[in-house]
Amino acid sequence: MRQDLTPEGIDPMDSKGVAPAKTADESSAPAALWRRGADLWDVKGHVERPAKRIPVVEEVDVLVAGGGITGIIAALAAGRLGARTLVVEPFGSLGGNMGPGMFAGGSLHLALKNPEAFPDGLGGIPQEFNERVVDHEERRVGSDYLRDSKTVPYVATRMLEEAGVGILLFSAVVDVVKEGDRLTGILVENKSGTLAIRSRVAVDCTGTADVADRAGAPVVELEENPSMGVFFGIMGVDAERWARARDGRPDLTADDEAWLEEHQVPPQLMPWARQAWEAGEFRIVQIVDGFATLEITLMEPKGDPPSVNCRTRVNGRFHPGDGLALSRIQQQQWCFIYEFVEFMNRYVPGYEEAYLYVVSPYFQARGGKSIESERALTLEDVAAGARFDDVIYTYYDDKRYVEGGVDVPYRMLIPKGVDGLIASGRSAMKRGPQFRQRYSAQQMGQVAGTAAALSALEGVSPRDLDVHLLQETLLAARHHIGPRERLRQLGLTPPTPAREG
Ligand SMILES: Cc1cc2nc3c(=O)[nH]c(=O)nc-3n(C[C@H](O)[C@H](O)[C@H](O)COP(=O)(O)OP(=O)(O)OC[C@H]3O[C@@H](n4cnc5c(N)ncnc54)[C@H](O)[C@@H]3O)c2cc1C
Repeated sequence: MRQDLTPEGIDPMDSKGVAPAKTADESSAPAALWRRGADLWDVKGHVERPAKRIPVVEEVDVLVAGGGITGIIAALAAGRLGARTLVVEPFGSLGGNMGPGMFAGGSLHLALKNPEAFPDGLGGIPQEFNERVVDHEERRVGSDYLRDSKTVPYVATRMLEEAGVGILLFSAVVDVVKEGDRLTGILVENKSGTLAIRSRVAVDCTGTADVADRAGAPVVELEENPSMGVFFGIMGVDAERWARARDGRPDLTADDEAWLEEHQVPPQLMPWARQAWEAGEFRIVQIVDGFATLEITLMEPKGDPPSVNCRTRVNGRFHPGDGLALSRIQQQQWCFIYEFVEFMNRYVPGYEEAYLYVVSPYFQARGGKSIESERALTLEDVAAGARFDDVIYTYYDDKRYVEGGVDVPYRMLIPKGVDGLIASGRSAMKRGPQFRQRYSAQQMGQVAGTAAALSALEGVSPRDLDVHLLQETLLAARHHIGPRERLRQLGLTPPTPAREG
């Protein structure tokens, strides 16, 4: 039985190259998985959790949950304003998508490709951070993802230390402490057990709105095609032999073309991918238990010795907040990656001696869980170049570029239904416009950290923060809110050349 996993109504703009496979032999799929719709767990009953005394190990002004690129910039912004700040991160290094995720480098400077939008560069802490990363790499950033993914955590750690920000690694936020609707702290889990951290304001930079979710705030959960992926790298390739084989291939037959179209495999791997598939040795598109598709993208060999950057593409009918779905996918995905390299060894000239030398441990979604915010930006807002008085930065969409961009409102970072919390980065980005892109995530991080620090130091809830004060504070830190004319309209002080330093 064939099943087309392509959903309706998913915006393809966010799925660069990640159209789900059209081929799915899911004859072994448990039918129940299709019916359930939400998590895959089969709940057997419930247990009560007895009240427990949990030690409070920290009291901070600003707690940043998640040490990805957004959390790093948010924590720097808060720490530099004098707020006692702590970042909590489950991995053993900072960087998230650009650290353990290894998807680093390529678009660190995406914003700078839009010189008309950012005539003075990205501005603020993001610019400073990016420049330090670039300097460490003798300005070769973007040339090697793996190299970049080590520099990002290093620079982040050093900059946070310089700003006096605390870092707690190997620790995940697992629950929250609340007084009424106000979040007053979080619970973390690590090798010491369960620990409490009191916070005046928390910033949810978990990428999947975990803090907001656990605080009972409404969240948006995408149940289809979350566009996930894992980075992996291959070494030991004979790049010249591979190039000769690739360029010397006979043209594909009409039958091959049709097969390729149906199976959506990397075209440069034809005819070998088809041969291995039909020999029953390796399927380059796979289905996980009838609910997810696994596919592969690979780059050309690069460098000396040559290495090949690859990533999986994972889509289907599940949501990335489902722990059981993630575990099942990852179990098959890891073997899929390993067996892909074995297939390359056996079938693809130049890859005979190739070996898998790294697989990222980070498995996240482009379209994951996010907060239900006070004001989400829509595709219509982007297309119309919407204007808001509480603008905190200007967003320029790759696909729907409009002159002057669109104002991102501060309310986009404020979750409904809970106080004492701001969301930032992927946690605050509903799927649609590509807010998840790094320059946007970084700018959002600076705003979230600044707002959290001001709220904590002024003793107000983030939703009641004086937006004018926030905007002026951001401008003083050389954050780019928008063009001068726009700032004047809002009664803000455009940066002077002296202020720009
Ligand atoms: C597969 C993939 C590829 C991408 N490629 C690109 C690209 O090429 N260019 C681009 O501009 N953007 C890309 N993105 C988007 C990218 O995610 C954003 O640009 C940016 O990295 C988002 O930053 P973030 O800090 O919000 O999320 P992340 O970088 O994911 O950071 C989230 C952090 O929170 C931590 N965390 C998670 N749960 C908890 C918890 N319970 N408690 C504490 N911490 C927690 C995670 O460990 C992680 O370090 C990609 C995203 C994905 C998923």
